Amino acid sequence: MIQICSTSSIFALPFAVIFTVHTISDFLTSIAYFSIPITMFVFVKKRKSFEFRWMFICFILFITLCGITHLMHILTYFYPIKPVFILEDIFKVLTAAISVITAVLLWKIIPNLLLIPSPSELEKANKEILHLAHHDTLTGLVNRNYFNLMIEQHLAKAKENQSSLAVVFIDLDRIKIINDTYGHGVGDLLLKQVSNRLVENVREQDIVSRQGGDEFILLLPEITYDDTKVLMRNIIQSMSPSFMLDGNRVHCTPSIGVSFFPADGLDAETLIKYADLAMYKAKEKGRNNYQFFTQEMNEEISSKLKLENELRRALEEDQLKVYYQPLLDVKTNRIVSTEALLRWYHPKKGSISPAEFIPLAEETGLIGPIGEWVLFEACKQTKKWRDEGLELSISVNLSNRQLMDENIVQTVKNTLLQTELEPACLTLEITESMAITNLSDTMNKLKQLRDFGVNIALDDFGTGYSSLSYLSTLPITSVKIDKSFIADINNRMKKEIVKSISNIAQSIGLKVVAEGVEKDQQFYIVRSLGIEMMQGYHLSKPLPANEVEVKLLEMNSV
Ligand SMILES: [Mg+2]
Repeated sequence: MIQICSTSSIFALPFAVIFTVHTISDFLTSIAYFSIPITMFVFVKKRKSFEFRWMFICFILFITLCGITHLMHILTYFYPIKPVFILEDIFKVLTAAISVITAVLLWKIIPNLLLIPSPSELEKANKEILHLAHHDTLTGLVNRNYFNLMIEQHLAKAKENQSSLAVVFIDLDRIKIINDTYGHGVGDLLLKQVSNRLVENVREQDIVSRQGGDEFILLLPEITYDDTKVLMRNIIQSMSPSFMLDGNRVHCTPSIGVSFFPADGLDAETLIKYADLAMYKAKEKGRNNYQFFTQEMNEEISSKLKLENELRRALEEDQLKVYYQPLLDVKTNRIVSTEALLRWYHPKKGSISPAEFIPLAEETGLIGPIGEWVLFEACKQTKKWRDEGLELSISVNLSNRQLMDENIVQTVKNTLLQTELEPACLTLEITESMAITNLSDTMNKLKQLRDFGVNIALDDFGTGYSSLSYLSTLPITSVKIDKSFIADINNRMKKEIVKSISNIAQSIGLKVVAEGVEKDQQFYIVRSLGIEMMQGYHLSKPLPANEVEVKLLEMNSV
């Protein structure tokens, strides 16, 4: 009995194992049968990731093994012998194994699967992408490309409805100084706050766009001239309270130009161009105001452009001349220096006033090459005079743009090396307002020039801030008192002012030059005040180089 029991348990154990394996593999195969079509359904639009490729291979294997297993199963009906059953079981196990691998791969892909957005999420994402493509990332305003699209649509609508439309060009004043002083982070905060104030002050149907930098363009559909005026006034008013930016209180004003459809132009390009022109007019008129485009502005710009082209040609065709106005040493009554002054002799228009073409040269950047040319000519001429035994030094005016040029120090050094003029014989004249525009940068450049031996004069003193403190803080060697003080020097008050400036300047070791001395009486008063040098028509008007030599021989031989 014991033997029968032990014999039956010996057969029962493998049978139980085979039965369990059989059942599990059948179960897994069934799951796999369901998992594969589901997986294929979900992945049908998925990209072929690494895992997905392997899962695809496993799937092929799985299907193949399923086919073989089932063939084996069918075979057992016809040949119910042990080897066929074993083969069937082997394929069942292989099928189960491959289904497990497929499941693992599926598990690995599930997190990615979860990332597949739903249709509503896709729609939202598409909207966000579209918003990013159409809006400025910093301010959230409409960007340039989308604005161009919108203006075309609104123009078409305005043409159809025969309604008017305004294009408003806004540029922020002094933004460069704000960026330079507080950094670009604060500059960006300012742009954001300005954007908010603009949006708050326009109508719902208006479009506010940022074109880049500190330039904004507004599109005001179906608006009248008077309503635009009110809106512009509101915008200017909204900008007047200071901006609190990262703990800094900053003031920023706009310059605004407006053009109208259909009165000023019929297409987007013309309207934007004219609004831009009007904005420049607003800048010219002292900033923080708005200007409507007029045809006169267009004509003014055309004539400016013409003059600019002529000025370019003037430089190439030798129409520019350097004149020299002598400076007198009052004590010795001898001409010791000259100031180089630019003259333009136009072949048709004759002499063109520096007051007309110098600002234009500044505006267009032509002052760069022109200024360099004047510096070179003046140094070359002075070196020639010195070689001939005439002890003259030279003063050359630097423009604001030249002083801002990062290569100015090197340009001056190169000019002196090329012309072989001693640095001590050159004085560069700058104005007070130029010096303080970017004080630390200017100080740095002036110090480098002083270290090289070049003299620096503070020109037109008294017309700008007239801060006596700059006399001691700026690395200057002389101060030129503006001609407006000398013209009224008979006036006791003006005389006292000139006397004070002169005394303070001299007490800190600066040379003083009186500019614009025209009359005998002015000459005597200036001399009585102990001013060392003077310049003006009393002594001589600006002269061509050859006439300076005559004047010099005539004066200095006395
Ligand atoms: Mg000058």
